[in-house]
Amino acid sequence: MSQKKLTVVLSQAQGKDPVRRAIEEEIAAALLMEPGIDLGIVPALYDLNEGHTGRLYLEGVQGDMVVISWLYPRAAYWLLDRDGIQGKMGETNIKPADNNDDDDDEGEEASKPKGIGAVKFQDRFIYCLDLRDAKDHRTYIEEVRRIFSECKQRWGAATGDSKPAIVQLGMNISTPASTNGNATGSTAFPKEEMLKIPGRRWYPVIDYSRCTNCMECLDFCLFGVYGVDSLERIYVDNQDSCKKGCPACSRVCPEQAIMFPDYKSPAIAGAPVGAISGLKIDLTKLFGGGDALVIAAKERDKELLRDGRDAVGLTVGIPKRQSDKKDSPKDELDNLMDSLDTLEI
Ligand code: SF4
Ligand code: SF4
Repeated sequence: MSQKKLTVVLSQAQGKDPVRRAIEEEIAAALLMEPGIDLGIVPALYDLNEGHTGRLYLEGVQGDMVVISWLYPRAAYWLLDRDGIQGKMGETNIKPADNNDDDDDEGEEASKPKGIGAVKFQDRFIYCLDLRDAKDHRTYIEEVRRIFSECKQRWGAATGDSKPAIVQLGMNISTPASTNGNATGSTAFPKEEMLKIPGRRWYPVIDYSRCTNCMECLDFCLFGVYGVDSLERIYVDNQDSCKKGCPACSRVCPEQAIMFPDYKSPAIAGAPVGAISGLKIDLTKLFGGGDALVIAAKERDKELLRDGRDAVGLTVGIPKRQSDKKDSPKDELDNLMDSLDTLEI
C-alpha cells in the first residue's frame, strides 16, 4: 500500500489546564488546514486502557504516524510499543529547551543504549513530540510539515493533495477519526467515545532499547507487576497492580530503562538519558538523602505496609552491585526532587 497521508495523533493533557488546552486547540486548528494530514485526538495516552476507543483508534492507524503528547518522546514511544502500536522511532528536530549538553562526552557515553530492543517493528515510523518543548504551536506545525516531507520522500509516491481530514472542533477540541485515507470515520470511532476521559493510571513503562533483561525489577517488585513473556523477556504483566505514585523499581533498574511517565522528576518520567547534566555538586549529601536503592526500599516498604504486609527493607530483591553504583547527574536531580519533597519546600 502506498501511503499518501500522514496521521497525526494529538494526546490531550490530563486535567483541564487552560494553557495546555489552548496550545492543543491551536495545533488542532492549524493541522485541520494541512493537506495530507489525518488528525486524531485522544485523551492522555498513558491513561488509555485496553478497549478505550482512543486506543482502538491508535491500534488501527496504518503507516507513519506523529504522536504529539505531554510525555517525553521516549516514554510515549515505549508506551505505545507496550500497547502493540509499533514502528521505528522517527528522529525529530524539537528538543527540550534545557537539552544543551550535546558536547558532554561523558553524558553521551552513558546514554548509549545496549538493550534487547523491541520484539518486532511494523515497517513504519512513529515520531513522538513533547508538547512541553515549545510554547508556540507553530513550532509543532513546522515540525509536522518537515516530517511529512521526509515521509513523502520515503514513500516515493504521489502524496495526494486531498482535502484535510474530516475533523470537528468542539468545545474541548474534538475528534477525528480516519486513518491514512481509510475512512473509518465517526462510525467506527464516535467522537464522544474517542474523547471519553479514562481514569488515571499508574504503571511502569520499559524502554527496551536500554533494558538488558537482567530481571532485577522482577526480583525487586513484590506486587506482581512484572512477568516474563514466552520469549523469556521481562515485561509489565499486570500494569494496574502497580502502586500509584510509587516509582521504586525505576531507581533499582541499572539501565534507567523503567519510566513512570507521570512522575515529577524528568529522569524517571523518561527524559533522554544523559541529557540532564551540569549538576556538579552532591545534592544528595546537601539534602541529607540516601542513595537511590535506599529510597527505593523505603518506597516499597511504604506500599507493603499500606497493603497490611511486613516491610522488608533491604533484605529482599536487592541487587548487590547497586550499592557500588556511582550517582549519575540524573540521579542527583532525582534525589534533589525527592529531598525537596521530604522537606516539603
Ligand atoms: S531492571 Fe531494568 S534492565 Fe533489568 S530487566 Fe528490569 S527493566 Fe530491564
Ligand atoms: S513501582 Fe513498586 S509496585 Fe510498581 S512495579 Fe515498581 S516495585 Fe512494583
